[in-house]
Formats: sequence, C-alpha cells, structure tokens
Amino acid sequence: MEKREKMLALHKKWEKKCACELRNSATQAVFGDGNPESEIVFIGEAPGKDEDIQGRPFVGRSGKFLEDMLQTIGMKREDIYITNVVKYRPPNNRDPEPLEISTCADWLREELTLISPLLIIFLGRHALNRFFPDAKISEVHGKLLVKNKLDGKKQNFFALYHPASALYNGGMRQTLMDDFKKIPLALKKIKTK
Ligand code: URA
Repeated sequence: MEKREKMLALHKKWEKKCACELRNSATQAVFGDGNPESEIVFIGEAPGKDEDIQGRPFVGRSGKFLEDMLQTIGMKREDIYITNVVKYRPPNNRDPEPLEISTCADWLREELTLISPLLIIFLGRHALNRFFPDAKISEVHGKLLVKNKLDGKKQNFFALYHPASALYNGGMRQTLMDDFKKIPLALKKIKTK
C-alpha cells in the first residue's frame, strides 16, 4: 500500500475510534491533508468554522495566509502535510481542552509515525505545548527545537505563531513572516547534521 492509502486508512480508523467529545458538536472530523511523503508536517490547533464545513484543515483565512507564506519559500500546500492537534471543531472556536487534546493524541501520533518527517512545524502554542508542555511560544518561535524520540533518534521541530493570531496583529504578522522564511535554512541544517 502507498503512504497515501495508508494515511486514508489511518484516518478512517480513527474517525470511528476517536472518543473525543467534540465529535458530538462538530459537523465532521477534519483529517490531515496534503502530501504524506513530505519532509515537513505543519500542526495547527483545531478546525475552525470553514474547516468544519469543508472537512479540510486550513481552508479559511488562516489557510490562505499560510498558503501565501508557503509561496514566499517556494512551496505549495500540496508539497507539505498539514494537520491539527484536535480533529474536531471546538464550539465557537474556543481553545481545545486538555482532555480533548489527549483524546486525539494517538491519532496525531500515528500520522507522524507514518510520515516520519524531517521537520515538524508548530502553528501556535497548542501544537507547541503538545510536545513541549512548558515552552512559551513567545520565547521559542523561529527556533529549531530538538527532542529525542523513543527509538533514540532525534526529532526536529520549529515553532511559529498561529496564523490566526498574527493575521490582524501587525507586529506578530511580521514576526511570523520573518520566522517562516527561516524554514528552508532549518531544513538545510537538519540535512547536513
Ligand atoms: N486553525 C487551525 O489551527 N486549524 C485549522 O485547520 C484552521 C484554523
């Protein structure tokens, strides 16, 4: 089976199995999307209204902004894989709660195991804190972070502000765009290590 088919099977399995309470209020599960062969995986927070309706991550305003930033580093949405910490829309776009995050955790873990990306990019603090519970996005954004995996190998991460928080905040927007441009160099560093 190709990775793409395996990924679809993984999502279908978790769509049945995931016990997240948010499934009771959401329209549908929002599966990760894009290229499962990618070297890079972006992880957002949770689906918003547009994503809940369309069943795809980052299709609203944040998604458009993300696509614009990808273009600045010569990438397209189809080149990368993008997913969320939580697979169902929280009511009124409130923050996902710790129990919702932990209930969706194995779904995300399996996506990452299947892809085995060189670089995992956090979009916002919820994705960051899922892997680095004590880290502050204001301190680690734009930096390469490294963690040992269970198999002893190293996993590289890069933290960014969430596009939705940066969209209407001039200073944060510029910081996010500047950090985004550091991604190719971060990848190069990882490859030459
Ligand atoms: N914000 C997210 O974190 N994820 C989406 O899919 C859309 C907006």
